[in-house]
Amino acid sequence: MTKKSWEEIRQDLISAVGKSNYTNWIEPLEFVRIEGGVAKFHVPTTFMGNWVLRNFGDHILRELAKSGNKVTRVEFAVRETAKTDRKRAAKSQDKPASAVAGQIGGEVPGAPLDARFTFESFVVGKPNELAHAAARRVAKGGAVTFNPLFLYGGVGLGKTHLMHAIAWELRKRSSGLHVVYLSAEQFMYRFVQALRDKDMIAFKQLFRSVDVLMIDDVQFIAGKDATQEEFFHTFNALVDQKRQIIVSSDSAPTDIDGIDDRIVSRLQSGLVVDVHPTNYELRLGILQQKVEQFSEQFPNLGIQDGVLEFLAHRISSNVRVLEGALMRLFAFASLVGREITMELTQDCLSDVLRASDRKITVEEIQRKVSEHFNIRLSDLIGPKRVRTFARPRQIAMYLSKQLTSRSLPEIGRRFGGRDHTTIMHGVRKIEELKQQDSQIADHVELLRRSLEA
Ligand code: ADP
Ligand code: MG
Repeated sequence: MTKKSWEEIRQDLISAVGKSNYTNWIEPLEFVRIEGGVAKFHVPTTFMGNWVLRNFGDHILRELAKSGNKVTRVEFAVRETAKTDRKRAAKSQDKPASAVAGQIGGEVPGAPLDARFTFESFVVGKPNELAHAAARRVAKGGAVTFNPLFLYGGVGLGKTHLMHAIAWELRKRSSGLHVVYLSAEQFMYRFVQALRDKDMIAFKQLFRSVDVLMIDDVQFIAGKDATQEEFFHTFNALVDQKRQIIVSSDSAPTDIDGIDDRIVSRLQSGLVVDVHPTNYELRLGILQQKVEQFSEQFPNLGIQDGVLEFLAHRISSNVRVLEGALMRLFAFASLVGREITMELTQDCLSDVLRASDRKITVEEIQRKVSEHFNIRLSDLIGPKRVRTFARPRQIAMYLSKQLTSRSLPEIGRRFGGRDHTTIMHGVRKIEELKQQDSQIADHVELLRRSLEA
């Protein structure tokens, strides 16, 4: 068989494997010769050879046989005598393809890790103890027990911190391990870049060569179909190879709108852990730990008893805000050269304190709104669609979104089990009406002020 006839034969593979597989995997194969019943090909990388062998080997054999070639086996080898990364080859879960001679070059450059986000600096409390335990377990390395680890929760609750901590720990334990941390946005960016540069093969093999892949804020790929598709394939390939995947998101897999069902079910197939909103004890713990850190930066600053308790009590939104507040307090106190007293705290943080004055609940909002419009609470939450109930209901949804840290699905549950898209619609409706209808805007403002009072 000549090279020419291979080019003809392979055309028949398009229908068997599909256009995109064909372009990515079959087209780059370079036919060498048939020898002793073995069809030999050159491939750009070992990874690719393994992949093609495993996924399309039979197809290729069949097509070759159909064209009258006596072949019983296909073999893929990397042409150049590239240095073999034997360690990686030995570790690979693939059935060793004896025919494959080279190794993959290049690594996925992940996003840099924040040096402060370690397990040592992570304060554990009831709301995050499960997430922390799961993260610790994954950071131990070894056999993959749950794949993926899916961490979800509201903003500023420590998801990214935990992921970085896992990455640091894994790198510390085994320096040869290829650990890659990326935001979903960066994943998409790379994917789009690879498409543009017609470099999909390199992209695929890079991502399929990692040992541990972490994708942060996966909700970002919602509604982005091509990226999702690619993520799905990467995901499956890595799971097949028993590589650990860790994913974070702002909501549970089933609550992410605009994500393919196949991906949702894949995301749920490992361990799904909820990082809960902080409680008072955890916030106090975090503050105490941060004070220790700041004390090194600001050695001469005293802090009055009760200040930390006060902050832990009053700032309940998220850890990032809490940290920011404390930082500001230290910076301010060092500037004016005074001890951090309760009075100084009130002065310096008046805006933050006002904003997260007190934790407002969805139930409280519903009660206030129904009183304000003089309708029954059951009608506010219930299914009736008449305007007299529907508008106040939407206002209550809007305020719940604005004034609490509840996610849309969580708010939906508190509104008689409504879908989060309904809540989203309500929120948008009021946002719109506030611009057009000053009466609505007044109602909303009045309610907000009375809730925050
Ligand atoms: P998320 O990714 O969930 O939005 P981050 O991991 O970025 O949140 O956390 C926000 C900030 O709060 C970071 O500075 C992080 O170090 C800090 N933080 C969150 N949870 C904890 C915790 N349990 N202990 C110490 N710091 C925390
Ligand atoms: Mg994050």
